[in-house]
This record gives sequence, C-alpha cells and structure tokens, in this order.
Amino acid sequence: MTQRDTPVRATPWNYGMLSSAELGDREREYVLNVLDKKRLFRYLEEGAETSEALRLEEFYKELLGVRHCLAVNSGTSALVAALIAAGVGPGDEVIIPAYTYVATAAAVMVARAVPVIVEVDDTLTIDPCAIEEAITPSTKAIMPVHMRGVPCQMDDIMSIAGKHGLLVIEDNAQANGGTYHGKRLGTFGDVGCFSFQQHKLVTAGEGGMFVTNNERMYERAAVYHDSSFVYWGMNKKRDYEFFPGENYRVSELHAAIALAQSERLDSIVGRLQQIKRKIVDGIRDVEAIRLQRIPDEEGDVSYSLVFYLPSPDAAEEFSASLNREGIPSGTAHRQATNGFPDRHIYKNWSYIMEKRGISERDNPWNSPHYKGSVEYSVDMCPRTLELLGNAVSIILHQRMSDEDCDDVVRAVHKVAARLP
Ligand SMILES: *Cc1c(COP(=O)(O)O)cnc(C)c1O
Repeated sequence: MTQRDTPVRATPWNYGMLSSAELGDREREYVLNVLDKKRLFRYLEEGAETSEALRLEEFYKELLGVRHCLAVNSGTSALVAALIAAGVGPGDEVIIPAYTYVATAAAVMVARAVPVIVEVDDTLTIDPCAIEEAITPSTKAIMPVHMRGVPCQMDDIMSIAGKHGLLVIEDNAQANGGTYHGKRLGTFGDVGCFSFQQHKLVTAGEGGMFVTNNERMYERAAVYHDSSFVYWGMNKKRDYEFFPGENYRVSELHAAIALAQSERLDSIVGRLQQIKRKIVDGIRDVEAIRLQRIPDEEGDVSYSLVFYLPSPDAAEEFSASLNREGIPSGTAHRQATNGFPDRHIYKNWSYIMEKRGISERDNPWNSPHYKGSVEYSVDMCPRTLELLGNAVSIILHQRMSDEDCDDVVRAVHKVAARLP
C-alpha cells in the first residue's frame, strides 16, 4: 500500500447515540429518588410540590424564559396538543416543510387539519418564500421545524405570520438548546414543542414538552393532555375550559431522567458548537463542496454537518470515500439502508400523497368545513429532493476529540482533492 492509500483513520469513531452517552450517575440518582418516594404519578396529592414533572417544567420555564411549560409523554403529543390548544382543526390548512420527521405531518392530520407541504431551501429548513406562496384563505398556522439542530429563518417566518395573521407552532424536537439571534428556539411562535425521545440530544427514552407564553393555549393543552385534568385536587382551584382530552401525561420516572439530562444541555451544546466550528473552519475553503447555509451559526445546536455536492452520484461517491477514510457519513439516500424509505422526506408520507385520512369518513380533505384545494405529488417539491439528493451528512458527537475533528478536516480535503 502506498502512503496515499492509507485511510485517515483505521477505524471510525463510535461514541454511541448523543443522548445515551450521557446517561449516568445523575440519571440513576434522580430515578432512585423517585422510586424511594414511591410517587410515580404527578397528580398524587401527597407531595404534589415535589413532582418531577413540575421540576422539569420549572427548569424549562427558567431556561427558555417562558411563562408556561407542560411536560408530556412525547414530542408528537406536544405537537398534537399544540394544534388543539391553538384551535387548529377541520377546515384549516397548516403549512409544514417537505423535510421533517413524519410526526409533524401526522400531528396536523390527527388534529383533523390539512397539511400543506412546502419546499425547504439550502438551509434544509422551511423556505420563507415558499410559505408565502402557499398561503390561502384556509391557512391557519405555520409549523417551522428546526431540522437537525439548525434554526429556521425565524425573522422572516414571524413577519410573514404577523402580516397574514397566522399562528406559529415551532417543532423544536431536533433543536433543543439552539437559538436564533440569541433567542431560544421554541420561544418564537405561539407554541414550541420539544421531544425527549432517545434520538434527540437529551432524552428520557420517551417524553416531550409544550411551551407557550399564552395562558389560554397552556390551559387548553393541559386539559387536552389529560382527560381528567380538571378533576385533580391541585387543579380544581382554576376555572378551566373543559373539553375532551387524551392521556399525554408524563410519568415521574421519565420526567426525572429528562431533568437529569436537560441539566447538561447547555454544556453539551457548547462542546458540539466548538467541534463543528473547528471542522467547518477547516473545510470552508474546499471548493468542491458547498456547506449547508446556516441562518445563525451561533445558534446551531451543531450535531449535524451537511454539505452539498453537484449531483446525487457525486454525493454518494463522496460519502462512500469518507467512510473508507474512517469518517462515518451518509446521504439522504443511503441513510435508508434498512430498506425503509426515509421517513423525513414528504414523498414517503404515503397517506398524504394519497389523501387518506384515519378512516374513509375521517378525512380532513373531505370535511365539509374544508374550502381549499391542496394537491400533492411525489415530485411537488423538486428543490427539496435535489438538495437532499446532493447532501452529504456527518453526525457529530460531543465526545469527539480535537484529533477526531482534525481527521474529518483531513479526510474531506483528501477526498475532495481526488475528485476528477
Ligand atoms: C422526533 C421528532 C418528533 C416527534 O417526537 P417523538 O417524541 O418521537 O414523538 C417530531 N418532530 C420532529 C422534527 C422530530 O424529529
């Protein structure tokens, strides 16, 4: 083997999932504390003031500087509760990006509203121009998604929403700890939704959070998240609007783990930002690649590094070469190697492409309240498909060493230099 054929790294790094890497003594302590108290349900009268769910909510109220937080059992629950709380329902259209986890789209349909899918731009987050073009008399809300920890262009989105009198529900499942122009993601819209599922930065296995400054929306979310909410002694003092709800309550065990993890959030994000900055500074001058545009680099949660090649073939080739150099990387196409189509791309949300509701009668497009005429096709967002096709992605990890970062820089230069 010549020198040139020696890979940059003999073996790829493997620090495990970002969230799992941090599961340790603090989580154990908080969980054992819950077991010792024998209090697994938040609305038990005894010791109500020591509820873990309440502590988790207080933590996020302080962190985000918002008036109301409601801990729930998943990010999807937070999204559904947010739509219901905001009064979105039959007849309404909700604008969502063509690139997001399928739950964003599912939540809109669970709320009996019609999802309107629009292009992302080279930030891989919703394109503000595409939002404006998609607004109709039926539009009620916009759901920006801070995909892969990257903040959406919130200035533009909020001004469009303001101009057209639309609600904004932020899906912040993937960007806990991120900011935009110094303000925490999840606090721009009428409601922000967080997830503590294990693929997210901080986790409880499952869990979520609904946040708002709007008291009425908070109360509606609280009532919807628990069909019995108004009956628990500690909630009786207030005059809640009572309507049917579900059970999206979070267990005390999950809340305890989410709290232990969340207390480390800012230090994890701080380290990720150092890591990404070091790598990006080292590859900015590589002409063969174009870095994903980041609306506010300071606010990027920074666990995802994406750059574009000129074509899907070039992206595949570049990513395969990086992997041969010991740098774990993927493309939107190859990330779905388990045989399932990528659930983050609109064209794979078959029930929307086919306008199928939860049942034949329960179909938001057939609602007598719906006056719109939205259409879908797998090629309706060509720009999104092109960007995703050309994208190479490297998932970063807070445990990466400076040497790991240098390896990424060296490998990107080496692979780029070999391009024809
Ligand atoms: C994970 C995720 C959700 C759903 O969160 P769950 O806790 O898994 O229900 C929603 N939106 C986005 C963008 C996500 O990544």
